[in-house]
Amino acid sequence: HRTTSQALGRIAPSRTNAMTDRAIELRAQGRDIISLSVGEPDFSTPAHVIAAAKAALDAGQTRYTAVPGTQALREAAALHFRRDLGLAVGPSQVIVTAGGKQAIFEALLATLDPGDAVLIPSPWWVSYPEIVRFAGADVVDLPTQAAGGFRITPAQLAAAITPATRWLLLNSPGNPTGATYPAHELRALGDVLRRHPRVLVLSDDIYAPLRYGGGQHATLAVECPDLQDRILTVSGVSKSHAMTGFRIGVSAGPEWLVKAMAKLQSHNSGNPCSIAQAAATAALAGPQDFLADWRERFRARRDKVVAAINAIPGLSTPVPDGAFYCMIDAAPLMPRFGDDEALALHLLEHGVAVVAASAFGGGPGFRISFAADDAMLDEALRRIAAALR
Ligand code: PLP
Repeated sequence: HRTTSQALGRIAPSRTNAMTDRAIELRAQGRDIISLSVGEPDFSTPAHVIAAAKAALDAGQTRYTAVPGTQALREAAALHFRRDLGLAVGPSQVIVTAGGKQAIFEALLATLDPGDAVLIPSPWWVSYPEIVRFAGADVVDLPTQAAGGFRITPAQLAAAITPATRWLLLNSPGNPTGATYPAHELRALGDVLRRHPRVLVLSDDIYAPLRYGGGQHATLAVECPDLQDRILTVSGVSKSHAMTGFRIGVSAGPEWLVKAMAKLQSHNSGNPCSIAQAAATAALAGPQDFLADWRERFRARRDKVVAAINAIPGLSTPVPDGAFYCMIDAAPLMPRFGDDEALALHLLEHGVAVVAASAFGGGPGFRISFAADDAMLDEALRRIAAALR
């Protein structure tokens, strides 16, 4: 009676969560562990967002809402897409989900059949391939390298598309690499996609507000408006507004796809948490000025981490353009450690939790998140240097 489904057997637990759990376990044993394995800002959720959550409770907003989200939040999300991504959408093209993760899960589950193929540039966010496999479809790896900015090329995309291809998953700025696609590269990818009308595109722009290069964020649905009927743009408040625990994501796409996702959601979680939706409405429609300060602090940390890592023999990292991760190459250390999982465990023994690059389909190396406070980052960088001396 303890057998589980074939679908479940196709997936592995999240290795980023596994490393975080291991760090918590060691800490419980009294060990001093700094966790650079988790992808969440250390900043406090803005006070006006907390106030909106409390006000929603006091106002009795404790009941079911519409499955795809409250009208207020869908309107705030449409405002966000226009203001921050330059993407003009109405509330009927928006769906609110329990985190960006649920949107990706729903979009893929609602459209994939066995035999379909999904193109995923690697190193990838850990959940992408697992969700695809859960849906019964096949993962097609599009490998990228640091030298190419961890971005795929139009030729690479064209060569990978077959009649089975159903989705391309694009993530800019990217986790775990920080890869950020400029507008002209998106248009060139669009030229390839235009020739293959069956291919849908998931544009995961959840880190869009956390870009360090300045200028307008570029996104495929804006660069190639004629492809909008097959692009789902995923965003949210988890990363940009330090609201990971609220579990709210917002996505914009064609009505046929948004409706399909809502159909699935109606039998799964139903509506996202009513209180969290009120908080997210305040986050997206309220003041955004704190973001500039956060971005500057992330940028300072990024520069510090890149300099410190590149000064350690055997490690190297490019400068990430966005998000808050460094994908560190450790290939020269492999004769000593064997694989990057062993290297990550070695660093954990020296008091720093990181995630092996192989968990993201890359490497050998490891990813660190620099969304940790400055004193902790300094100490973690000292420990990494000492552990590899
Ligand atoms: N997409 C990417 C690339 C991410 O890194 C994450 C979080 O780690 C998500 C989506 C999902 O975010 P959440 O479900 O917390 O909103």
